[in-house]
Amino acid sequence: MEALILFAALVVGAAIYFLPSIVAQKRKHRQQTAITVLNLLLGWTFLGWVAAMVWAFGEVKPNTDRQCPFCAEDIRLEAIKCRHCGADLSATTAT
Ligand SMILES: [Zn+2]
Repeated sequence: MEALILFAALVVGAAIYFLPSIVAQKRKHRQQTAITVLNLLLGWTFLGWVAAMVWAFGEVKPNTDRQCPFCAEDIRLEAIKCRHCGADLSATTAT
């Protein structure tokens, strides 16, 4: 019985410790890998945990990039000309 309580406390403790990572993942945060690393490495310092939590709750910007069909570099969604290869994208602009 004591082992069970200890195990439950361990699971709850781990869930609280990794809460910033879980929040970032649930919100599909673009920096969720970085948040998880910060959470993992500095979460034991209270400040690191708070920083990861604040970051996880930060603004989640919609994806504003797409891939150029000619050179495969990341370009803006609204781009009509690729800034990398100079290809004309006006015909392929996403609506
Ligand atoms: Zn290009």
